[in-house]
Amino acid sequence: MHDILRRLPKVQSVLETELASQLIRIYGYQDVADAVRETLQATRDKLVANTHSAHGAITHQSVLAEIIPVLDAARAQTLRSAINATGIIIHTNLGRARLAPAAIDAMRAVAENYATLEFDLETGKRGSRHGHVEKLICHLTGAEAAIVVNNCAAAILVTLTALGSGKPIIASRGEMIEIGGSFRMPDIIAQSGADLKEVGTTNKTHLRDYASAIDGDTALLLKSHTSNYKVVGFTSTPTRADLAELAHREGTLLVEDLGSGVLVDLTPFGLPNEPVVKDVLAAGVDVVTFSGDKLLGGPQAGIIAGRKAAIERIKAHPLARAVRIDKLSLAALNATLELYRAPSNPFEQVPVLKSLAEPVELVQARAETLCDRLSGYAELDLAVLTSKAQAGGGSLPQQDLPSFAVSLAQNGASPDAIAAKLRAQDCPVIGRISNDRLLLDMRAVTDEDLPTLVTSIITALVK
Ligand SMILES: *Cc1c(COP(=O)(O)O)cnc(C)c1O
Repeated sequence: MHDILRRLPKVQSVLETELASQLIRIYGYQDVADAVRETLQATRDKLVANTHSAHGAITHQSVLAEIIPVLDAARAQTLRSAINATGIIIHTNLGRARLAPAAIDAMRAVAENYATLEFDLETGKRGSRHGHVEKLICHLTGAEAAIVVNNCAAAILVTLTALGSGKPIIASRGEMIEIGGSFRMPDIIAQSGADLKEVGTTNKTHLRDYASAIDGDTALLLKSHTSNYKVVGFTSTPTRADLAELAHREGTLLVEDLGSGVLVDLTPFGLPNEPVVKDVLAAGVDVVTFSGDKLLGGPQAGIIAGRKAAIERIKAHPLARAVRIDKLSLAALNATLELYRAPSNPFEQVPVLKSLAEPVELVQARAETLCDRLSGYAELDLAVLTSKAQAGGGSLPQQDLPSFAVSLAQNGASPDAIAAKLRAQDCPVIGRISNDRLLLDMRAVTDEDLPTLVTSIITALVK
């Protein structure tokens, strides 16, 4: 044993070889030296523990060969583009909305250059970062004023803190939502410093429940979109108009968290009747909050829109500064919102809406094209199947979207093993496993993705 340990190469002697100098030119001295030291230490530990598979001598070459994948792995970007073949269009773990080209161009322009972020060109003095999108948001939603922050969770926190801190907020027991990522409405309300008064029951909350909880101190009534679940059966909630009327009669406010706010009617595409922001405000809601990167199809952002007096209080709160939006997201949001302005058709321009509204025949054609391009590889077992896609991102719960998928199998390989190989590619492909088959759903994939998708599949599965 001591003999073997003694014969292990020394770190310095490995680093003095010609191969090591080549690696140092590529990876730098420090990284190579660290990797050699760690690899030799690991080998020594295994020898001592008697777990080293003793085939082959441990040489300078073998040590250096071992460190190359380690050096490469340390450099690989873990955050990189991927192909979403899950069938979930707004997939939070896969980055939610893909941006429209116009939004990407706008980000590039403000990233490469100085920008008029907080600069008023007319006066030559300091301007407001909120001004860039406020008018457009008001135009698209009918709001009197708006402010944009980091995300919708931040939008809710700053809204409730500015309008409700130290006072009672009244909300229905049926709307105590958890969104995921530990976002729970009761916790956010506690964090805001407001005092939550829950009314009603899980399935039924009446107008009179709100009415009897209101007193002169009440800061606001809070309504939340139950975006990722549905309470069905023996249920009731008051209409927005009734709630708004009650709030205003009692001299208080109605605030609604819409989560995935939509700016356009989705029903012409066979999709459910999601509350459109404009209609929600028209029904009398004073302040709404919604996400930039869900059904709106823009960057991560939280939009707060509504009555001027309430929005001014939110803008003036110190927390608004802490959760402010950055210039890249602001540029992307501005450009995305422009795609909703007539005569532009957002269903042709905004990727999320395009994926949602794409006729199923085109999704089927994409599945068939993928099969055709892979048909020359006898080792792949392919079939086109009907599938069910989803909007995702806590929007349109329980609503299946018609779709098509390619099922991908290989003799002897489990669906999990195939999925793991597809994930290991330079451009990872994320599918879903259903009925013991790996499915690549084509609804969130685009025609432009196909060449990369084909390359990833061939590299992963064809020798
Ligand atoms: C998604 C969602 C949020 C959180 O939005 P983020 O933009 O992810 O912070 C809040 N409320 C509801 C109802 C949601 O669906």
